[in-house]
Amino acid sequence: MALDTLDLGVLVAIVLAIGIYFTKGSLWGKSDGEDVSVPRGSSRDLVEVLSTNNKKALVLFASQTGTAEDYSHKFAKEFQSRFSIPTMCGDLADYDYENLNEIFTSVDGFQLVVFFTATYGEGEPPDNAVEFFDYLDNECEDLSNLKFACFGLGNSTYEFYNAMGKKTVSTLTEKGATLVGELGLGDDGRGTMDEDYMAWKDGLFDILKDELSLEEHELVYEAQIKIEESVLTIDSPEVSLGEPDAKYINPSQEEAQSLTEGPFDHTHPYLAPITISRELFNSDSRHCIHAEFDISGSNLRYTTGDHLAIWPSNSNEHVFKFLDILGLHEKKDVVIDIKSLDPTVHPHIISPSTYEAVVRHYLEISGPVSRQFVGSVAQFAPTEQAKAHASKLGKDKDLFYEEVTSKYLNIADLLHVLSDGVKWTSIPFAFIIESVAHLQPRYYSISSSSLSDKQSIHVTAVVEQEKYPNVDHIVTGVATNLLLNIQLAQNKVSDVRPVLTYDLEGPRQKFTPFKLPVHVRRSTFKLPSNPATPIICIGPGTGVAPFRGFIRERVAKAASDVSVGKTLLFFGCRKSNEDFLYKDEFVDYSKKLGEKFELVTAFSRETAEKVYVQHKMLERAKEINELLNEGAFFYVCGDAARMARDVQNVLIKIMMSERKVTESIATDMVKNLRVLNRYQEDVW
Ligand code: FAD
Repeated sequence: MALDTLDLGVLVAIVLAIGIYFTKGSLWGKSDGEDVSVPRGSSRDLVEVLSTNNKKALVLFASQTGTAEDYSHKFAKEFQSRFSIPTMCGDLADYDYENLNEIFTSVDGFQLVVFFTATYGEGEPPDNAVEFFDYLDNECEDLSNLKFACFGLGNSTYEFYNAMGKKTVSTLTEKGATLVGELGLGDDGRGTMDEDYMAWKDGLFDILKDELSLEEHELVYEAQIKIEESVLTIDSPEVSLGEPDAKYINPSQEEAQSLTEGPFDHTHPYLAPITISRELFNSDSRHCIHAEFDISGSNLRYTTGDHLAIWPSNSNEHVFKFLDILGLHEKKDVVIDIKSLDPTVHPHIISPSTYEAVVRHYLEISGPVSRQFVGSVAQFAPTEQAKAHASKLGKDKDLFYEEVTSKYLNIADLLHVLSDGVKWTSIPFAFIIESVAHLQPRYYSISSSSLSDKQSIHVTAVVEQEKYPNVDHIVTGVATNLLLNIQLAQNKVSDVRPVLTYDLEGPRQKFTPFKLPVHVRRSTFKLPSNPATPIICIGPGTGVAPFRGFIRERVAKAASDVSVGKTLLFFGCRKSNEDFLYKDEFVDYSKKLGEKFELVTAFSRETAEKVYVQHKMLERAKEINELLNEGAFFYVCGDAARMARDVQNVLIKIMMSERKVTESIATDMVKNLRVLNRYQEDVW
């Protein structure tokens, strides 16, 4: 069978991912300490690195968005501290696996390997683990010496829930490895990732005490990095003020070239100007931003259906509240050196930097707090009362939910509440860097077409601002409120007061005018290679984003006399005059594509009974079935929690009624469409 563009896309993505990761190592921040050797990146030989650094346990992560990486670091640190076993935490992409089985026989006293495995997209491995799973599937023969534990990070609203965690366990055990404890299943879909992790970890620790006869100690914080205040000042050219990566600071000639030539990836973004931004909603309280990133000055490329990763920074309000409760506000511009005390630990922060730059650009300070964080920060509490309260919250899951989770508190909010505003001046900043998750890029389905919009990448982002009953503040998202701020400033809108404000100029005014660091992530969500193939697209809300790109592509093709198949788009929103995204544009596309484009709308708040895209699909059952019979591709984009599953169930119903088959046959038909890549999802 000939390769579809989709297959080619997958191949390209895999090759790119491998390429990206082979070049990693040295790219995360500048080498920061002359007093440590740096084995990571200098050797890919696990036995050598573990032996040289006298490590007796290994934690490896397969991470796409950084969550698995954060958990693996947390685990490695606690494991080392609780059992006094020197533990190394590593990126699966940084090592070769040929001698995975020999670790236990070659490294003196070696105890355990622990995997943290995230599942991405439709049951795919994260980019950094593609090669590892390929090795397991095709080369690895014997792992009978390997003792391992595994925690999977997934989302139960997706079809392939925790597929890669399950695969890690099944493949390793097939090769003879021994699983210690049970596979941990962290579920983002139910919002229980943190509690799932804690339950798995505590259970594993109990088993380890028995099986490996490990002795457990009281958890005390042991710093793995050292923070020293520097004689440099904020004006010193080598100081990072939050530049996206080291190449942006005082770049050499070669580095300066890479700022426009790339390659651009999750270690080195392109600082892209936003040339156009606009509000898409017609509402006082809700916002959705259309933003166009100009890539003409760079080698950054994308193809229709890819994702854009936007690297955000924190809002002024969150940064100052955080610095304030730590008693660091006065010292915000003091320059600090961040040095690793363990050659295998690399803080993902460019050093030297300032307290403010670290908090603003590198730490996830506004999201939910973990129970583990509260338990461990208790030791640095400024008052006995705060200490007791924090310890209690750390131990009591229900109390933590009641007092912290259900109130949507972030770290600074919680510290404030615990100490009644007394500053937490005894928390070592090293603890903050080691315990607070790192700020990660946010992904957006690209809403432009690489054919019609070669020089720009469009995104469509709904602004996260939620006022919950019984919560005294508006709960906000980092990246989308930043985009809102850019839109307001760029269009000189003065009658909207944003909930948050941002430093739009960026470090050394490098983000002026209206630039943000971005990179493209290849996706497998692709149009059929034959433009004459009909497509059915289900995209309520911002789920319409990639379909705008698809339609623009077909408009461009049709304009150059290529015959295009029908595009049947189902779009849903609340009200036709409030949040109907790209309403006017669709009229234009309709004119250009004629009968080859049809938009079916569902407005949920215009009638007594709520109407969603699923209802509209049922109304068009006959046509959907006919198009599928003609070879149509079926696409779903948007909310993973409910919509994607409902849509699949409705499609099964349509198959049953139109093709007069049983539910199980209809279910198999839909599964088969997935196997053939004719049913694709881009959901989050
Ligand atoms: P974040 O800061 O990441 O916050 C996430 C959520 O947590 C928000 O709802 C926020 O209100 C809430 N929150 C904040 N503080 C707390 C607290 N203390 N306690 C509890 N909750 C809290 N989105 C789009 O709009 N358009 C797209 O096209 C799109 N495409 C995507 C494609 C992919 C492949 C993926 C993975 C995601 C996509 N998303 C898209 C979602 C997007 O990546 C972001 O997750 C979303 O925009 C929110 O980002 P944020 O930084 O504004 O919010």
